[in-house]
Amino acid sequence: MADQPLDGAVALITGASSGIGAATARRLACEGAAVALVARRRDRLDQVVGDIAATGGRAVALAADLTDPERARGAVQDTVDWFGRLDVLVNNAGVMLLNSALHTTVEEWDRMISLNVAALLHVTHAAVPYLIDAAATSRRQVADLVNIGSTAGRAARPGSSVYNLTKFGLNGFAESLRQELLGERVRVSVVAPGTVDTELVDHLGDAARDAARRQVDGIEPLRAEDIADAIAYVVTRERRVAVNEMLIRAGNQTW
Ligand code: NDP
Repeated sequence: MADQPLDGAVALITGASSGIGAATARRLACEGAAVALVARRRDRLDQVVGDIAATGGRAVALAADLTDPERARGAVQDTVDWFGRLDVLVNNAGVMLLNSALHTTVEEWDRMISLNVAALLHVTHAAVPYLIDAAATSRRQVADLVNIGSTAGRAARPGSSVYNLTKFGLNGFAESLRQELLGERVRVSVVAPGTVDTELVDHLGDAARDAARRQVDGIEPLRAEDIADAIAYVVTRERRVAVNEMLIRAGNQTW
């Protein structure tokens, strides 16, 4: 087989049991990376790992609840123990529990903060030294930290306050890290999807799910593979190119 752009590279993808994360794991494996997949549902991870292995790729399933700081750190360590290095981290795991401040619970707010923010920080903190090392020692002389943002990181809407908080915050975090790490040749980017057809809204209660579906009524949603394409584009550039931000809306999405 001809050389693939990510031959020799190792990628860790959080939230890889479904949706954008699963599509990204498959795609980066096609680009030649060995991939570590993290999420809670082991059966779903095993399925994706099996598919990747069947096409000749290298993948490992790491079942973990990333809201446990030890497990978040452990996911990074397990990846390095398994594959020996870490070149690409895709911070993708996230929940979107839409509801108004009046009707939601603080537990729902806490769930979003503990995954979309705290877990992302814990995984990132553990990964940064390995990414720096990978950039210094790899054939490509570059490493990537990709953060999955959202159009909700650019436009606030009713019912989305804390989800907006997590995604607006992600942008600031990523921009600061980008400036900190560029001298180390670790590229930090935000890939911000619009409406994608995944399980994201399945986690909502009935009323919130119906409201969310009404909001996107008439929009032809993106597919998870469309976002995986964007991520693959970002991480396969030569080291002189840094794609710091990509916004991918559904074709007929207004916000
Ligand atoms: P999915 O619900 O399909 O994927 C979410 C992933 O996160 C799953 O793999 C889930 O796996 C994992 N996850 C949830 N809780 C935890 C946890 N505690 N520990 C570890 N993993 C966890 O939705 P998407 O693919 O759509 O979402 C991926 C990202 O894309 C999110 O950050 C989301 O905010 C963002 N996004 C999505 C958009 C959309 O329209 N779909 C639009 C813009 C951004 P498991 O349950 O097995 O743990």
